[in-house]
Formats: sequence, structure tokens, C-alpha cells
Amino acid sequence: MRLSKYFVPTLKEVPNDAVVTSHILMLRTGMIRMVSAGIYSFLPLGYIVMKKISEIIREEMDAIGGQEFHLPALNPKEIWEETGRVEAFGDILFHIKNRDYVLAPTHEEIVTYHARNVVKSYKDMPQIWYQIQTKFRNEPRPRSGVIRGRQFLMKDSYTFDNSWEALDRSYNLHDKAYRKIFDRCRLKYFVVGASSGAMGGTGSEEFMVKSDAGEDTVAYCESCGYAANVEVAASRIEGVKRKAESKSIYEISTPDVKSIDELCAFLKIDETQCAKSRIYVHNGEPVLILMLGNDEVNESKLVSVLGGNVRPGHPDELKEITGADAGSIGPMGFRGKIIADHRLKDANNMFSGANKNDYHIGGIDFQHDVKNVEYQDLRIVKSEEGCPKCEMKLEVFSAIELGHIFKLGTKYSEAMAAKFIDEKGEEHPIIMGSYGIGVERIMACFIEQHHDDKGIVWEKPLAPFDVHLIALNMKNESVASTSEKIYNELMQNGISVLFDDREAAAGFKFNDADLLGMPIQIVIGEKKLKDNKVELKIRKVNQRLDVDLTEVLNNIKMLFAE
Ligand code: ATP
Ligand code: MG
Repeated sequence: MRLSKYFVPTLKEVPNDAVVTSHILMLRTGMIRMVSAGIYSFLPLGYIVMKKISEIIREEMDAIGGQEFHLPALNPKEIWEETGRVEAFGDILFHIKNRDYVLAPTHEEIVTYHARNVVKSYKDMPQIWYQIQTKFRNEPRPRSGVIRGRQFLMKDSYTFDNSWEALDRSYNLHDKAYRKIFDRCRLKYFVVGASSGAMGGTGSEEFMVKSDAGEDTVAYCESCGYAANVEVAASRIEGVKRKAESKSIYEISTPDVKSIDELCAFLKIDETQCAKSRIYVHNGEPVLILMLGNDEVNESKLVSVLGGNVRPGHPDELKEITGADAGSIGPMGFRGKIIADHRLKDANNMFSGANKNDYHIGGIDFQHDVKNVEYQDLRIVKSEEGCPKCEMKLEVFSAIELGHIFKLGTKYSEAMAAKFIDEKGEEHPIIMGSYGIGVERIMACFIEQHHDDKGIVWEKPLAPFDVHLIALNMKNESVASTSEKIYNELMQNGISVLFDDREAAAGFKFNDADLLGMPIQIVIGEKKLKDNKVELKIRKVNQRLDVDLTEVLNNIKMLFAE
């Protein structure tokens, strides 16, 4: 491709609205342009990379027996109503105004709709259906460029099995395929146990990349490899030790004391003597959550403990439920379900709100005074806490989710009555799995991991072009003709070339070549041509070597073979 005719609008300056490295570099290299928040156009250079990633995914999906579909993005709303997900997705779902249609954020409903009509017998399974297609999600805070778009490309696949063992097989095939895909895309990633969120299901893992640009938080143990999304992560942390002497309960006036820190300062006590209260509403009923000191409630864990619909109580509901405002709520006299974090199980001589503004209660013994309480792990784990699997400590950091594999089980097949007949003639819901990969996220994460201060550093599998050929002065007859010759020779040998044949200053061309980041640069200039030589530069290590004109092709083949 000749740069003089190719639309690659590179930018010298860092665009104003971009902060994440991959976003900045995709804009500066002219791979993408924003149209509106979370909506991007892929320009030719970016689209080549998108196609390369898609092709790697396609090959690995085909290798596990996947069959490629192309499902509609425009979906009749009634199919989504069958599973209750119009509600579950809420504002994330895009609605078409003049019709009862939605724009699909994922395709469980559509594939289950097809399976219900065609997968009737145990003999019809296993099935692996996949597509690489545009998804629509009205993300509330689209940022970080294409990492969180409102329209994005996803490889989504769905498996249909006639037993739980067969689902395990389908799931493991995906796990293996995903590792191959991310390895081929030259990504450093790790796999974490995850919560199944709005998708529902029984088992799930996420493929993650460590990055400050990430919106997921992961707990990781370097020593044993334990890794989990903080939504589900556990840690080894001590509960409160029981004091020898148990006081009886008493009320104390605590004017203007609201937070745990204020309570500790006021009473000159330690936070491990305080039980913090939070009110949630579960299927319309209030639930009191008790945490030790400043421990935070992990809402994902709470949702998996309670099931159903869970939300924090609104400030104006609290007084009606407990008789007090936030900061003065506690377990004593609370009528309703109580769930306490497991660290509180043996606690005595504890302080908590009195359900009366500006009062607290001391001397609370969780074993005797708090009735109808259930103990669960409800904490958000923190860095430096003990690993739950070994003797070492956890590190908590931000990460980007590249892909997610779920054992859906029968959630969708039951909701949509997709059933099969087994060997004995009995009817069962089809057992399903669902598996997603974000194509743009692979691209952005690759750039996050492969760049330097000059620009992107592509590796061959994803590089838009293998070689960036720079003719230093096209007005010079021998430079121009040699460049043309090498350009054609490389292309005839299956090497893709971006040919900078523009009339521009050498420095400008070098900067563009480093910014665009093709793996190998060839520089053709008058001086070296006099000795029949050209210069090769390996972008990754910035190494330059002079090569005989006749040896260019061989050298490039050798470099790629390495
Ligand atoms: P997140 O928690 O980051 O919103 P998710 O859990 O909603 O992701 P899934 O529904 O599992 O994601 O979608 C499968 C894959 O699609 C994700 O692993 C991710 O790579 C990609 N993806 C999801 N949402 C977006 C988005 N808004 N923009 C780009 N890619 C996305
Ligand atoms: Mg999401």
C-alpha cells in the first residue's frame, strides 16, 4: 500500500480527550476516529488489525468444531421478554423507538430461540455456534476509547449439550481455544474465577490483562497463582477474637457521630470493636448487613448469597425501616433478616447503632444478643491480605476483561422452553454455555502491552503491515526505482508492505514509521545505495543493520522466522 494514496491521518500531538495509552495511540496512528461518546469509526489501518484478530479467533473457533453464524443485531423485543432480560439489562439495552425492537447486547436469547426449534434430541448435540458481530450496549460511562464502546465487535459463542459432563467438555474446549487466541495475539493475560453477573449460571472464568486502564479489580497471588475478580475473591483474614469477659448491652449518647472513624475517636476504641450497618432491599424486604469496622460490603457476594433483586436502601427509606438515619443503625431491635460478615461471628463487647439517631449500643455479644443472623463472607478483599490458597499475600489491582466463559446451565433453556428428549424418551432443558471475546479489547490491550515512547510496536500476527518501506527521496531516480523494485518483490513473496512514497522530509517519515510501528522498517537512501545497500530496522529493539540489495528478502524472511 502506498502511503501517498492511503488514508492514514496520523497526529503529531496527543489528542485532548484521550488519557489511556492505547486510546491515544489508536487516534494518533489514524486507526480510529470518534463519532460520538463510545462510538468509533475504524479507518483502514485499524480495520486491517480488526480483521486479523477476527481471523485468529475464527481459526481457533473452527478448530474446536465451532460453526459460524451471522445473527441479527436487530431483535424483536418479545424474545427478550421471555427471559426477563429487558428488565435485567435496564438502561444498557438500546430500544428502537418506533418499533418493538431492541439492539442486541449479546445473543443468548436468539440462539436459544433457534435451538428450541431445531435441537430436539440428545442426538442433535453437542453444538458449538459462534459469530463475530457487532454488539450494542448503552454503557453509562464510555471511556478509554474502544475498551468500552457503545457499539463493539464481539466473538460470542454458545454451546448446547445433553449432560453436565458434556457442558464441561464444551467449556474446556473454549478455555483451551481462548488461551490459544490470546497467545497468538501475543498478550500477557491471566485467568480469574468470576461472578456470573446478569448472565446467570454455574461456573465462569474471565481472561484478564493487568492495566491501570481497566475497570475490573482483581485479587492475585503471585506465589500460588490464585486469581479472582474482587467480586468473588476471598482472603485469609482473622475474625474478631472473643473477649474473656462479656459485658451486657448498654446505650450511649453519641451526638453527631456517624462514621466508624468518628465512633472510634469519640469512644477511644478500635474499629475492630465496631459493627457497621448497611440496609439493603431484597425482593422488596429490608435486610440488615453487618460488617466489621471499615470493611466494605461486596455487593456481588451479597447478590449471590441472597439471589433475586437486591439494592441498597435509599436514605429516605432508612428511617422508616429502622427508626434512624444512616450512622445510627444497628442490629439490636431490628426486625427483619440480618446477615453479618463472618469476621463478626464470635464477637462480643461490640458497638453498633441504636436505631435511634445520635445513640449507639455497646456490649453487643453476637453469639447471644443478635438473633436470626446468618454469617457469610461479604467483604471486599484488600491488597496485603492473606491469600486464601497459600501462606502468601494478595495483590489487588485493576485489569481489563478480554474474554469471559460461562457455564450457563439451563437458565435460558428453561426460560424459553428449549428442551430435548434423552435416550429414555424423557424431556430436559438443554444445557448451555456462553463465551465472549471483545475484538477491540484485544487490539487495545495489545497496544497497552506493546508500545514505547515513539509509538506502537506491532508483532507480525496483528501488524497492519509486515514492513514499512521508506524511500528517503522519491525525486532521486535510483532511490525511486530501487524502492519500487523492493516493494514489488516483497509483495510477490507474501510480505505486506506499507510504502512511504510521499514527498516529505526524512525526519517526518521516520517519526511516522516509528509511530505506526510495523515490525520491520526498510530505509532506502542515496548514500547507502551507492554501495548497493539499504538499511533494515527492527522496530522492537531499535536495531539497525545494513543489508545488500540482493539480500533484503532473505533477511526479512529470516527475521520473521525468528
Ligand atoms: P465489562 O464488565 O467490562 O462491562 P462484561 O462482563 O459486560 O464486560 P461480557 O458481557 O462478558 O462483558 O462480554 C464479553 C466480552 O465482550 C468482554 O469480555 C469484553 O471483552 C467485551 N466487551 C463487553 N463490553 C464491552 C464494551 N462496552 N466495549 C468493548 N468490549 C466490550
Ligand atoms: Mg459490561
